[in-house]
Amino acid sequence: MTRTAESVWSNCLKIIKDIVEWQHYKTWFEPIQPVELNNNILLIQVPSQFFFEYLEEHYISLLAKTLKRELGKNARLEYRIMVDSGNSGRKGSMDLPASEARYTHYNEMDFPLVINNPVKNPFVIPGLKKIQIDPQLNSSYTFDLFVEGDCNRVARRAGKTVAEKPGANSFNPLVIYGGTGLGKTHIAQAIGNEVKRTQPHKVVLYVSSEKFINQFQDHSRNNAINDFIHFYQLIDVLIIDDVQFFARAEKSQDAFFAIFNHLHQSGKQLILTSDKPPKDLDGMQERLLSRFRWGLSTDLQVPDYETRIVILERKMKNDGLEMPPEVVKYVAYNISTNVRELEGALISLLAQSSLNKREIDLELAKKVLRNFVRTSSKEITIDTIQKMVCDFFDVPYEKLLHKTRKREIVQARQISMFLAKGFTKNSLKTIGEHFGGRDHTTVIHSCQTVKNLMDTDTLFKENVLELTQKVQLAAM
Ligand code: ADP
Ligand code: MG
Repeated sequence: MTRTAESVWSNCLKIIKDIVEWQHYKTWFEPIQPVELNNNILLIQVPSQFFFEYLEEHYISLLAKTLKRELGKNARLEYRIMVDSGNSGRKGSMDLPASEARYTHYNEMDFPLVINNPVKNPFVIPGLKKIQIDPQLNSSYTFDLFVEGDCNRVARRAGKTVAEKPGANSFNPLVIYGGTGLGKTHIAQAIGNEVKRTQPHKVVLYVSSEKFINQFQDHSRNNAINDFIHFYQLIDVLIIDDVQFFARAEKSQDAFFAIFNHLHQSGKQLILTSDKPPKDLDGMQERLLSRFRWGLSTDLQVPDYETRIVILERKMKNDGLEMPPEVVKYVAYNISTNVRELEGALISLLAQSSLNKREIDLELAKKVLRNFVRTSSKEITIDTIQKMVCDFFDVPYEKLLHKTRKREIVQARQISMFLAKGFTKNSLKTIGEHFGGRDHTTVIHSCQTVKNLMDTDTLFKENVLELTQKVQLAAM
């Protein structure tokens, strides 16, 4: 019987299957395709660079053993790596039993920049030393709270790898793309938070592309583009969220390009998110798109039913909430669009239950979800909530931040805190800071007071209910 790539590989798989945990087998071995057998060399095709490295890091000795068993001690494994859904394949190979990654990136600086001091920080605080740059991260976005499923496995693991060795991995840039509410911002920020936790000396910065573009335009008006670029060149781990907005900002792309080149060349990490695959980013310069291909682009899909259940359970646990299992199932089953809507449904359910003093049961869930048109494609901020509450009670915004003890101001402040706790992901500490630097105990006290007042004061309760609905609407 003549041996073929398929037969050799399928023999290898028989052994691997017995050794590797099923889930890992499914993730890391099933997608591999045997391509060609050339004497003692087996060529296999893997979906991505990330895949290649993951195999190399975790399964090299297993692969070596099984392949040597089939092809003798001079067995060799070669890889073909798919890039961008199969157009151009890159080739790599791996000496058995060990080797180092074989891809060197070719990059040229298209317009080198001379660094001159002092560097101005577009994040306002002037005259900063490198280490004092605030990373602009939300500490609730962690890997722990990000539930892994088939929908996000590659992105999540690539993110963890990047967080372990920022800059020193081949997912640079790491591009995470996918529809709204699927967790792009969460993963991108989790990387930043993890780097800050484990390597606090690294300078991390999270910025949305919109903010980047605004900053760029301000600096451009003030003839300070170089300051702007130099500031960004100080960063070790730069996270730019929603790069699709660059498509409409030609000049900002030039600045981003210069920054990208500088950081990449100096071994700094870039993490980008986008609402579509890079190749569909119309209006993005080809030289940028070609740089995105240097690293790994990976997508997020809508989580399946089981994953949605785990996400709900994790969130409830984290917030100290409880709900009967049939309600969790009902919500997970009926909200299948994205995770933000899933969380929105949970919040509505809790709000309705506490406002109506009613246990959460299936009946309530059905009622709430029926009215749950399409929620939350937007993220609500503390500022938005403060402004809405101020408008509602007709109190001046500054008063919320000051020490005023007037009853209506105090109540507006407490309700704002209560809603900020319910509708944003901010910590109590962060919420307190948004109210003129109050501490987290004040926020806890305020939330408690609001709950108590709702029990005793009908008008107050109606106001809170109306505001809750307004905030929910604003999140759509
Ligand atoms: P995107 O940036 O893709 O629009 P976000 O990162 O803002 O989405 O995610 C929307 C919400 O869903 C966030 O509150 C986030 O924490 C949550 N979320 C998304 N995916 C997961 C997940 N796999 N596990 C837990 N929470 C998730
Ligand atoms: Mg986002």
